[in-house]
Amino acid sequence: MIDFSLPPDVVALREKVAAFIDDVVLPAEAQITSRPFMEIVKELQAKARAAGLWCPFVPKEYGGMGLSHLANAIVQVEVGRSFSHLGAWALNCMGPQDATMLTLSEYGTEEQKQKYLVPLVNGDIRICFSMTERAAGADATGMQTAAVRDGDSWVLNGEKWFTSGASHSNVALLMAKTNPDAPRHQQFSTFLVDLPNPGYRIVRDVPVWGEETTPSFQGEEWMGHAEVRIENLRVSNDAIVGGEGQGFAMGQHRLGYGRLRHGMWSIAKAQAALDMATAYTIQRSTFGKQVADRQGIQWMLAECAQQIYITRLMVLHIAWKMEQKMDLRVENSMAKTYIANMLCHVIDTAIQVHGALGITHDVPFAHWYSHARTNRIVDGPDEVHRWNVGKAVIRAQQADGTTARAAGGELF
Ligand SMILES: Cc1cc2nc3c(=O)[nH]c(=O)nc-3n(C[C@H](O)[C@H](O)[C@H](O)COP(=O)(O)OP(=O)(O)OC[C@H]3O[C@@H](n4cnc5c(N)ncnc54)[C@H](O)[C@@H]3O)c2cc1C
Repeated sequence: MIDFSLPPDVVALREKVAAFIDDVVLPAEAQITSRPFMEIVKELQAKARAAGLWCPFVPKEYGGMGLSHLANAIVQVEVGRSFSHLGAWALNCMGPQDATMLTLSEYGTEEQKQKYLVPLVNGDIRICFSMTERAAGADATGMQTAAVRDGDSWVLNGEKWFTSGASHSNVALLMAKTNPDAPRHQQFSTFLVDLPNPGYRIVRDVPVWGEETTPSFQGEEWMGHAEVRIENLRVSNDAIVGGEGQGFAMGQHRLGYGRLRHGMWSIAKAQAALDMATAYTIQRSTFGKQVADRQGIQWMLAECAQQIYITRLMVLHIAWKMEQKMDLRVENSMAKTYIANMLCHVIDTAIQVHGALGITHDVPFAHWYSHARTNRIVDGPDEVHRWNVGKAVIRAQQADGTTARAAGGELF
């Protein structure tokens, strides 16, 4: 028998996180235009820690809650109800810290864990992930930043682009080419670089939409996506994480988690947008009838509800596969693309049914949409994920005479 009910401890945890978000985080969101963002974050973090809600997915031995993938998914859906990301900041599971903590806990040496993971978990430092370059994004193997061995050190030169949070980070997880002669996916290694560092020069934070609409999201308080010049940056050989040549595999591992986290948060965001859309159509009348009475509108709402339902099932199934340590690369790509588009579609529907009001800043949709739209690019664009899924479909047909294996066929 299939049991879709959540284990009682997960239900209790969900209720606890939901209450924390409702009672502590959402009221604090009202302050973000009038108080320094990180000041609010620090207050919330103290409350979250006191409540035992801290780094949900980090193993207990390093100070986290050590949750299973399923429990973490459920927690993240609640955390995602905070549109300003204050919920994630409060529980210290904000990107890019979260996925990087996972990388360190899985691949770091004990020394690296003590030096970087423990303070990250404590919320004492911030870390950024420097992989993308102007020269190479979707195809990260086109990376030009080169590391040349010099005794016990490496000397790095090149550039990075769109390193989120670099301007406010104490450490960078930086990928560079260490062996141009190795097979394509083994040419890269990942280095831990202490910041600030004269060899890692931040040229500017690239202005992006969505992060300008809330004043306290700018500058020191928020994120920023940095363009970085790397000039004669000297890093010790001990700073390599996970071994030489393993950078690409590790990058994919951390991006895999990041994609799912966006998916979990997106459920909450889409649900909020559909709630607002539906409430408005009930309240608004045109041509002598409630807007909600129109079948055309009901179909729009129905499509959103279907997509959110599919998303919930996808996330649960993937969490289950993660717990079984099964290969989920194809599902990860499917879910990442589907959910990013789902969220854009639901928010767009909310805008549409609100009419002109939908595009004003009196409602939050423009802000939500600008963030949601980036999900179709960040962590790999739609087209690349669909390409991966398409290749898996063709491989399955060639191997099995059916595409079922690449289309969830293992479920039944
Ligand atoms: C808000 C934000 C935050 C980010 N944070 C980080 C970060 O912290 N660290 C980091 O390293 N990177 C970060 N990135 C970079 C991000 O991962 C890349 O932007 C992304 O992988 C796409 O790379 P690109 O922008 O160079 O696009 P390109 O690789 O130039 O691709 C451009 C377009 O070409 C098309 N395309 C590419 N390949 C294919 C294909 N095989 N088939 C069909 N079409 C294709 C797609 O439409 C794609 O959007 C961030 C990006 C954003 C928007």
